[in-house]
Amino acid sequence: MRTWVQRSSLALSCSVKRCENVITLEPRTLNIEPVSSGIEERIMRIGMGYDIHRLVAGRKLVLGGIVIPFEKGLWGHSDADVLVHAVIDALLGAAGLGDIGQHFPDTAPEFKDISSLKLLSKTYEMISSKGFTVQNIDITIFAEAPKLLRYKAAMQKNIAQTIEIEQDRVNVKAKTFEGLGMVGKGEGMAAQCVALLKIS
Ligand SMILES: [Zn+2]
Repeated sequence: MRTWVQRSSLALSCSVKRCENVITLEPRTLNIEPVSSGIEERIMRIGMGYDIHRLVAGRKLVLGGIVIPFEKGLWGHSDADVLVHAVIDALLGAAGLGDIGQHFPDTAPEFKDISSLKLLSKTYEMISSKGFTVQNIDITIFAEAPKLLRYKAAMQKNIAQTIEIEQDRVNVKAKTFEGLGMVGKGEGMAAQCVALLKIS
């Protein structure tokens, strides 16, 4: 933006001198002062998160805080909500606050079977106390089955409410692994998240 303004000032400061059929442009001055864009400067921070969990029998499948009917669930110390764990790591990463295992260790009894939305709420308190607000979040969940399309809006709503932003600032996408690897064979699920924070 600033570069564009400088070039515009240079162009406006030129005079046109006609000499026979030749037109030359002569800058009146090269003493160009930076011009304020008038746009408030904002400091943005980006973070990314990734997580993967095994699928096992006898566990509830929880994704984005939604209990989804399925023959298996994700194994973990908490409710193993792989999608929310990726969001937590993205937010912590953007704020420079480390990672999920550092704040919510899987050896701590208080986190046994806890809803990951509660961990997300605690994460939001941490980043808020440092002056950050969330601009937007983009999540991809990798799961061979079940189909997740019908649950995406509810997942987005849960996450948006927890971190106090509008629902349209949270995007959830679902992909398969085309039968390849651990996710493709239905042995686990993975998630990636990118989060953008603003210092308010
Ligand atoms: Zn996890």
